[in-house]
Amino acid sequence: MDSQTPDIKEKILFTSPAEACHLMGSNMRGLSQEEADKRLEQYGKNELAQKKQTSMLKKFLANFTSLMALLLWAGGVMAILSGALELGIAIFCVNLINGLFSFFQEFKAEKATNALQKMLPAYARVIRDGEEKKILATEIVPGDIMVLEEGDRISADARILQSNDFRADQSTLTGESNPIRKSSDALQQECSYLEAENMVFSGTSAAAGTCRVLVVSTGMDSEFGKIANLTQNTEKSLSPLQKELNVLTKQIALIAFSIGLIFFLIAVFLVKDPWMESFLFALGMIVAFIPEGLLPAVTLSLALAVQKMAKEHALVKKLSSVETLGCTNVICSDKTGTLTQNEMTVNHLWNLRAEMTVSGEGYAPQGEIRDGDIVVTAQNSNALRLLLSGAALCSNAKLLPPEEGKERYTVLGDPTEACLGVVAQKGGIDLDTLNQTFPRVMELPFDSRRKRMTTIHQLREPFEGSNRIAFVKGAPKEVMELCQRCYDGSSSRPMKEEDRQRIMQANDTYARDGLRVLAVAYRPLRRDDETLPESIREYTPENVEENLTFLGLVAMQDPPRSEVKEAVRLCRSAGIKIIMITGDYGLTAESIARKIGIIQSPDARVISGVELAEMDDTVLKEVLKGEVVFARMAPEQKYRIVCALQEMGNIVAVTGDGVNDSPALKKADIGIAMGITGTDVAKEAADMILSDDNFATIVRAIEEGRTVYNNIRKFLRYIFDSNTPEAAAPTLYLLSGGMIPVPLTVLQILTIDIGTDMVPALGLGAEHAEASVMQQPPRSTKERLLNKNVVLVGFIWYGLLGTLFSVGGYFLANFLNGWPGIPLAAEGTHGYAEATTMMLAGVVFAQMGMAMNNRTDYESVFKRKLFSNHYINAGLVIEVVILLALMYIPFLSGIFNTAPISWIEWLYLICIPFIVFGIEEARKKLLRVRRAKRS
Ligand code: ATP
Repeated sequence: MDSQTPDIKEKILFTSPAEACHLMGSNMRGLSQEEADKRLEQYGKNELAQKKQTSMLKKFLANFTSLMALLLWAGGVMAILSGALELGIAIFCVNLINGLFSFFQEFKAEKATNALQKMLPAYARVIRDGEEKKILATEIVPGDIMVLEEGDRISADARILQSNDFRADQSTLTGESNPIRKSSDALQQECSYLEAENMVFSGTSAAAGTCRVLVVSTGMDSEFGKIANLTQNTEKSLSPLQKELNVLTKQIALIAFSIGLIFFLIAVFLVKDPWMESFLFALGMIVAFIPEGLLPAVTLSLALAVQKMAKEHALVKKLSSVETLGCTNVICSDKTGTLTQNEMTVNHLWNLRAEMTVSGEGYAPQGEIRDGDIVVTAQNSNALRLLLSGAALCSNAKLLPPEEGKERYTVLGDPTEACLGVVAQKGGIDLDTLNQTFPRVMELPFDSRRKRMTTIHQLREPFEGSNRIAFVKGAPKEVMELCQRCYDGSSSRPMKEEDRQRIMQANDTYARDGLRVLAVAYRPLRRDDETLPESIREYTPENVEENLTFLGLVAMQDPPRSEVKEAVRLCRSAGIKIIMITGDYGLTAESIARKIGIIQSPDARVISGVELAEMDDTVLKEVLKGEVVFARMAPEQKYRIVCALQEMGNIVAVTGDGVNDSPALKKADIGIAMGITGTDVAKEAADMILSDDNFATIVRAIEEGRTVYNNIRKFLRYIFDSNTPEAAAPTLYLLSGGMIPVPLTVLQILTIDIGTDMVPALGLGAEHAEASVMQQPPRSTKERLLNKNVVLVGFIWYGLLGTLFSVGGYFLANFLNGWPGIPLAAEGTHGYAEATTMMLAGVVFAQMGMAMNNRTDYESVFKRKLFSNHYINAGLVIEVVILLALMYIPFLSGIFNTAPISWIEWLYLICIPFIVFGIEEARKKLLRVRRAKRS
């Protein structure tokens, strides 16, 4: 057997499923694990060959060859050629340090995103040794039998063996957007391989139904593998914030060049300095002001946030989603599983004769069914036996007994279906015997548009004259509308209008309590029934799901998740609106929405799918302004709501799990798929995946998104703080017409920018969220990173404070040396070195206070532990160490034009951070008072 030869691939299309298995050396019980291991060795992993990655060296060198870096190299060479060796070397060092720093950050950011990719592995369900197993998709081998259901990603090319109304979405491969019906029949005539109705292909997905398939080719041998080169070229795009920063860096560089030019012209024409000296001076200024390390630092902040979110169960696929989360102002959430626990327990059963309560908790099959005081079982009530049997047979979920040392029963499959098996056992039905007595011949899978599911079973003894029976379960109203008869305990009778009213009354009573209700019905499938097809393969929802006989209602409890109420409250205070869009019934949805606080007003509206269909967009937008719950929604209606919200200017997050949710997930500004219950298709369409399916996780992710953006602002503000005193130094020199010698040399400015400022700036990028971050409205998408606040607080307020203390230091040094009695110390003297040292140290000590101040925007820094940010602590120490080295190591003092200072000067410096810190705390206090008054 060799699946890789084209003739077997061809042959398989024209043979029966059994023959196909034979050709592939497999059978319906699947391969043995041993054989699968052998084939894995022989054919290799089921994955596409990776495109060659850019080499490390190339990535490293790219950091030294950007336009900005090239300009700096040129500047350095010019400085050296002009005789300013020290400045030239300094510029080279700036470039080198920046390049290394950028590379390191990019490397770390890439590692973080790659780690994330690994957290999203693809799985497949296969039959091996006769048992169904979940394995990594990379381990699939030719000959494996795969089980597929709606929403699964198909990971290999495979021949259909058995199909239950199965349809595949092959748009990724053929561009055909309509799902294609697949069957297990042998082909009768030649057609192109991709058009074969009995094949499914890797890279496509299951759009509806279920099926079993035989794997024919894997990895690069699959049809998808052949065109893999086309698909691997997905460009990594920059996030809007990164793009904004790119522009910002260029703008700041332009400003730096302009300032450099102005200084050069003033120095040459007004102060009459030699032009070469002025040129070098301007060059140094430009180098000092260019924020080269900004972009990689922000990329790193975003990547770290993504990593942190992943730990909190929110897997973000793109860095840009972090920013979008920060702007989100509407969350459209489904109910089941996201807001509720999706741990279903049936606590009421109802039929036209009795209302029964069910005891017991969770999935443990222990409990009783009572009608008043009487315990009812399948043995003493026909009606109950049929209701419970029908419900349990029409289910694909499995109940798993507690693992060793644990107490809880768990389920494999849909909890809504699992609890039906549990209640059947409580009623005295043995599930194994039930399934053996009524073997399933076919399934018409659940679909959220039909809101029901049907299974067809073979009967050993005829029932109502038939040898097959269909059990249907689903949304009560929808199922009841298909019922013509009802079962009354011993036989069926025609259904009356009064029966219908009673059923809906019972349904509404349960729904008002927040219970999820399903109706169960049956239909004997008689051979002589002309509405039914001859062949079992032709059974469809249209010809089976009619003329049903109503059996009863099953009401199950699905309590809200405990953390959701607080998360909803947090959203309210953060100006985020929550809209529940659910497939469940209106009264159930409303009850849950009220319990968790999504709707509070008595005027809140509950709109059903039918009502929405009749509403035009203007009315819909009006409705969306108030409190609203959307119930019994079809997936395309979810899409329509998202569009309307976006047209109203909202930034919308949408949750979803099914195949049909993917258009809405894609349309949303941030699509969120469920990690546990979500289908592969939904996960692929989404920007973020919740590994715990929990609504509260979305809120935490939004908080993180807001925090990252604020932190990047804090980081920017801190970097800008020192630019004002740095610019003030040459300005003083120029404005005084050279009377005041330049208080800060170019090398000293560079010391601040690439030496003392670096680590504390990084620390600010890693700050925790401020308590008030979720008490403010969402940021507008139009708001720029460099906003009024950053300019006013960074450049002007903090900048002037820094200037005051550093220029103060400069004059203090001169004063202690005899000024104003003697003129200011001239360049080249010891007094000048001491004065510039004080100016430099003044800026650095002010920056120490600023580092602490910038940790919060409004909150007092004392509210968080003063020394809880280790980066900032380390930064403070590094700042002092650098200063001490420059002052007391003669070699460095020589290069940097610095000198030791007296104890009075030390005293002055030490006071600066405390004063800066104190003043800022007072300003923040005033801000808080003003805010409180306003609100
Ligand atoms: P949400 O959209 O909030 O997740 P939901 O699970 O109720 O809520 P759907 O999965 O679209 O939404 O289900 C719609 C309706 O179909 C349910 O309210 C229920 O009445 C019915 N239903 C759900 N699951 C099944 C199932 N496995 N079999 C039969 N009917 C089902």
